[in-house]
Amino acid sequence: MRIVVVGASLAGVRTVEGLRRRGSDADVVLVAGEPGAADGVAVDRPPLSKAFLASPDAEAAPLTTREKLGALGVELVPGRAVDLDLGARRVGLHGGESVAFDRLVVATGSSPRTVPGLEPVPGVFTLRTAADAAAIRAACTEDARVVVVGGGFIGAEVAWTLRQLGRPVALVEPLPTLMVRGLGPELGAAMTRRHAAAGVDLHLGTSVAGLEGRDRVEGVRLTDGTRLPADVVVLGVGTVPETGWLAGSGLDLRDGVVCDEHLAAVGAEGVHAVGDVARWHHPRYGVDVRVEHWTNAVETAGVVAADLAGERAVHDALPYVWTDQLGGRLQVFGQVRPGDEVRVVSGDLDGSFVAITGGEGQLRGLVGLGAVKQLMPFRRLLLAGAGWDEALAAA
Ligand SMILES: Cc1cc2nc3c(=O)[nH]c(=O)nc-3n(C[C@H](O)[C@H](O)[C@H](O)COP(=O)(O)OP(=O)(O)OC[C@H]3O[C@@H](n4cnc5c(N)ncnc54)[C@H](O)[C@@H]3O)c2cc1C
Repeated sequence: MRIVVVGASLAGVRTVEGLRRRGSDADVVLVAGEPGAADGVAVDRPPLSKAFLASPDAEAAPLTTREKLGALGVELVPGRAVDLDLGARRVGLHGGESVAFDRLVVATGSSPRTVPGLEPVPGVFTLRTAADAAAIRAACTEDARVVVVGGGFIGAEVAWTLRQLGRPVALVEPLPTLMVRGLGPELGAAMTRRHAAAGVDLHLGTSVAGLEGRDRVEGVRLTDGTRLPADVVVLGVGTVPETGWLAGSGLDLRDGVVCDEHLAAVGAEGVHAVGDVARWHHPRYGVDVRVEHWTNAVETAGVVAADLAGERAVHDALPYVWTDQLGGRLQVFGQVRPGDEVRVVSGDLDGSFVAITGGEGQLRGLVGLGAVKQLMPFRRLLLAGAGWDEALAAA
């Protein structure tokens, strides 16, 4: 049995580790194609928009090393996969070689989306790798004027981190509030007010029309006619699943590798997907989802390692994401649906708080800021499928 895992970041590395932990004695090969990284192995990404971005002294350690993989009996193959032949059961590599497999795990993650029509000029960055973060950090000199494009978790977090360093930061977001997809309109609006109070120059409900500057970015033009001066522009406009190398393979690639609840690719024998690239049928919600968060990458790796080791496992976990901004850890469990009721059950929205969200008599989501401990009893209720009244009674 030969298992090939393509992609050596969180989901891929945790999959090979999980296989060995579960006693698998298969031949395991890890194809590692992280750009600019030693041996193609990625670093843990969350610090890249937090401590690593803030401090030139911070270091980013790779998620594993050749030595550690060697100790696990995992063969490391640095390089990019360029195609997949499901019939011949081979992954083609850049440079012409190929790797044979019995079982394949796709762990190629996602890559930053760019803004259509924006020419990439020096001073304009996306943030995914340690090299990206180091380049942004170096460009954000003391007097650099920064424009962040995109007000999701990453954009808002980058704006917050750079603002804490004293940089003048403007943020452009087409929706009326920051982080609205994750937090919903009410909590999103409250957090938006806090960003404004911290001095982030918010331009909401408007988009980028174009960039100014030829040899280097000098400004950003907005669709509402505003011109923002800029020395550094960070694009945080979401990511797309890394499935280009799978084109034509026969896998179903509608926004990620389409999988069942075991994370097995539908319509293909012996292929799984993990992490950001996996789109699967979530048994808890009964819909297909793709999740681009750290904990999901770890959980999917566990499910697939178990499946490959012969223990049938289902990926039914409660969604979870955190981000460090607004003076604390902002955590979201479950789903915050637009139109759901929101109740603050601990603290207040100007400080630390826990809010519950729900509808149709059900508790559906939890949001906390700087309230890791206070959140836990509500998380237990959410996991247990508690009703709205039960959750309110626990406040
Ligand atoms: C700056 C930043 C901050 C974040 N902060 C948080 C946070 O606070 N909380 C949170 O929940 N989540 C956070 N995330 C998200 C989290 O890091 C991701 O969900 C996680 O990295 C997903 O892991 P993955 O292994 O699925 O994919 P990725 O990390 O994208 O890794 C995929 C790997 O596969 C490689 N690859 C791609 N194509 C090929 C190919 N053809 N051949 C070989 N290799 C290939 C890539 O180069 C990469 O090394 C953050 C992400 C970023 C970028």
